[in-house]
Amino acid sequence: MTVDMKDIVALCKRRGFIFPASDIYGGINGFWDFGPLGVELKNNLRDLWWKAMVITPPIGPDGTPVEIVGLDSSIIQNPKAWVASGHVGGFSDPMVDCRETKKRYRQDHLVVCWIGGQHGKDMPGIAFHEDEEEQEIEKRLKKLGYKEYYKKQPLTEVPVENYMYIIGPDAKEPGTLTEPKAFNLMFESHAGPIQSEENKVYLRPETAQGIFLNYKNVLDSSRVRVPFGVAQIGKAFRNEVNPRNFIFRSREFEQMEMEWFCHPDEVKMWRDFWFEQRKNFWTSVGLRSDNIRFRQHGQDELSHYAKAGLGTADIEYRFPFTAPDFGELEGIAHRCDFDLTAHQEHSGVKLEYMDPVDTSKRFMPHVIEPAAGLSRGVLALICEAYTIDKERPSGVYLNFHPALAPKKAAILPLTAKEEHVPLATKLYLELREEFPVDLDIKQNIGKRYARQDEVGTPYCFTIDNDTIQDKTVTVRDRNTMKQERISMDKVAAYLREKMKTADAVRKAA
Ligand code: ATP
Repeated sequence: MTVDMKDIVALCKRRGFIFPASDIYGGINGFWDFGPLGVELKNNLRDLWWKAMVITPPIGPDGTPVEIVGLDSSIIQNPKAWVASGHVGGFSDPMVDCRETKKRYRQDHLVVCWIGGQHGKDMPGIAFHEDEEEQEIEKRLKKLGYKEYYKKQPLTEVPVENYMYIIGPDAKEPGTLTEPKAFNLMFESHAGPIQSEENKVYLRPETAQGIFLNYKNVLDSSRVRVPFGVAQIGKAFRNEVNPRNFIFRSREFEQMEMEWFCHPDEVKMWRDFWFEQRKNFWTSVGLRSDNIRFRQHGQDELSHYAKAGLGTADIEYRFPFTAPDFGELEGIAHRCDFDLTAHQEHSGVKLEYMDPVDTSKRFMPHVIEPAAGLSRGVLALICEAYTIDKERPSGVYLNFHPALAPKKAAILPLTAKEEHVPLATKLYLELREEFPVDLDIKQNIGKRYARQDEVGTPYCFTIDNDTIQDKTVTVRDRNTMKQERISMDKVAAYLREKMKTADAVRKAA
């Protein structure tokens, strides 16, 4: 059954996962707030990533654990850092404006549906967002008086002289798109009381640079040696021209990035290694492997830093709004030695690595970077979990892996009768020391199950008359709705076992 994004957005709001930012003022385009359950889900994903990277990093190709340390760098850095990294000046996404509607689009986000093989007034190209559904394309073609199109082409591949035949995504007439211009995605502010050019600062557009800026500090202060990684999770800001698809593309979001510093001769081995690790991570947190794919970037879409090396490959997820196509979840880039070399040049500080065994050997480490979106990851988890089931009262449940679920269990006294409530409260007080759990006393039991289904609580423990007799409770499994009885003093162990991710099980084996 196809899932409608509108229903997911509605559930997220109704149950307290994600709200529009400044909701009571009508929201603000591109910004979102995480509600009581959303923040738990996000923290769970964040913590699992941190664990997989920093606390128990994987066993490397040589059979010993790889070395990764953590970092939490400032959002605002010396603006010179952004000149060196290429974010001020060179790096900016080419944009096209529409003279008719005054709207602005990222050139690489538009595709053109050409009506015929030749271009002309009666054979225009009609521009769409790359993730527009075929149904919508058909509707608009019809409105413009066309039945079908002949071929689809990314706007980046259309020579500028053919723009005169293109009807913009929201326009009626052809020829209103301007040629692409560079546009800086960084938010600007001023540090200090005077709003002068010298005081201009930027909100970081990626967490990665904070890692490069601290590369030498980390080397000098800890015992890591190449190859090693530095991991960071935090906010990033991009003044996206066209924020859309719920939290998929927003202007403020969180990233989980790890810069892996290695010898230039070993980049291929490490790139392949991190591909495998990162794919395992996403399946271990519950994304189905047939909803995930790898996509190697084409030469035309490579970032400034990736042109020379092995390039970038994305881990993509089939979101409901991209299906049957996929959208980027994580990029794994070979950043070469671009960043360290640039910061060495601009700062004048030597960043070359000296081999501790043979100090005559110096080299600039290369970097493999798995860069994932935390906010986007949360969206993927919600989309994956959203399961329509007309058979149950809620009509839908969220099939989160227990390790990700905001609440691991609900403790439900069958009735608000005197004997049930104290027993339930006792179990609740015990469990909450170890797990986020809910004690839910009011309403009939069916309604309470329905609520827990909708927020994805994997287990409900119900206290009834038998509990008083034999100290057992029923466990209701969210997905199967099957119930079994277990002893009350086994509940914590039961949950502990269920909480293990596939990754943890694999590591323990
Ligand atoms: P895109 O091409 O979609 O703009 P990107 O390739 O520029 O993304 P990276 O710079 O590689 O993205 O950032 C790493 C990750 O950060 C992405 O894989 C994505 O999950 C996340 N991300 C990037 N931009 C946004 C955004 N505007 N909103 C939410 N997440 C984002």
